[in-house]
Amino acid sequence: MDMKEDSQVLFIPQTPDEAAAMKQRLGQDACFVAAGTFLQLQWNERKSHPRFIISLEQIKELQGLQLYDGYLEIGSLTHLAEMKKTLSSEGDSILAEAITQIASPAIRNQATIGGNIMSKKGDLIPLLLALDAEIAFLTDSGTFRQSLLSWIKQKEESLLLTHVYIPHISISRLEEVSHTFFRKIGRRESFIPSLATICGSFSRDIEGRIIHMRLAVGGGDHPAERLFNTEKHVIGRKINEDLLEQVYQSIIEEFTPEKNPFASAEYLQMAAANLAAAELQSFCLEKTI
Ligand SMILES: Cc1cc2nc3c(=O)[nH]c(=O)nc-3n(C[C@H](O)[C@H](O)[C@H](O)COP(=O)(O)OP(=O)(O)OC[C@H]3O[C@@H](n4cnc5c(N)ncnc54)[C@H](O)[C@@H]3O)c2cc1C
Repeated sequence: MDMKEDSQVLFIPQTPDEAAAMKQRLGQDACFVAAGTFLQLQWNERKSHPRFIISLEQIKELQGLQLYDGYLEIGSLTHLAEMKKTLSSEGDSILAEAITQIASPAIRNQATIGGNIMSKKGDLIPLLLALDAEIAFLTDSGTFRQSLLSWIKQKEESLLLTHVYIPHISISRLEEVSHTFFRKIGRRESFIPSLATICGSFSRDIEGRIIHMRLAVGGGDHPAERLFNTEKHVIGRKINEDLLEQVYQSIIEEFTPEKNPFASAEYLQMAAANLAAAELQSFCLEKTI
């Protein structure tokens, strides 16, 4: 334990169990810090910080990724740069591609996937929703695993996130019949957090009918969510001009972001709807040539 001059207290646990026990003991006055790239921004804005800091940086067993039991298992303390490097070398493209659009290389060397998720504002959350990801937390009674979708509804913040699980099928679906996309709507491609992010995953049968669809938005100040109505509207149908127009309208109705200093709510809705409809259209047109 280190004492800081303004009576902030720093704890550096070596294992997940130690970290989880510390958090339980110290309660709401304590905060987990992975790389601190998100938290530092918040503390600067608020000009305050929590009394107890539990640094997770020494917990090696939550770093790294592997294929396990049909899932890509990613330790919550895996750095975004490491994820990108490993996934690119193995040919899994969408997560690696998304990571290149997050912050700058220097930030990505430090920032973790766990911090991106637990910040609740990370651009990776909608993509992970589109990929049907699950997440695991360490609790008193052991590890508790749930879908990311159910967690974003509860927003339990005080537990230690240990792993992220992505069904391997989601990232290895045959390109001819499926497509996954990540599109960030922002002031620039990278280096700064997005204004919004829209992500999706589609598959079609041999007749061109959409048989699987996930569409998710998030990023910026908008809480991540799946666009269930739009998904339901499309599943089982073949894409044509009419349906694309309906997809566009449905996204505008379902995605209701707050305006922010850089973009109106209408602009964000239209940009998200255009991007998703264009992805769907090019996926279906390309595959029918
Ligand atoms: C210049 C700049 C640009 C950025 N651009 C982007 C961007 O384009 N897209 C984007 O998504 N983000 C961006 N960010 C935000 C941030 O870098 C990322 O979201 C990053 O992934 C956060 O990871 P971290 O390890 O730094 O999290 P931290 O700041 O350490 O933590 C973030 C939150 O998660 C909690 N937490 C962290 N790890 C755990 C855990 N294992 N279990 C439980 N709780 C945990 C913390 O308590 C905190 O609430 C940017 C930040 C900066 C400074």
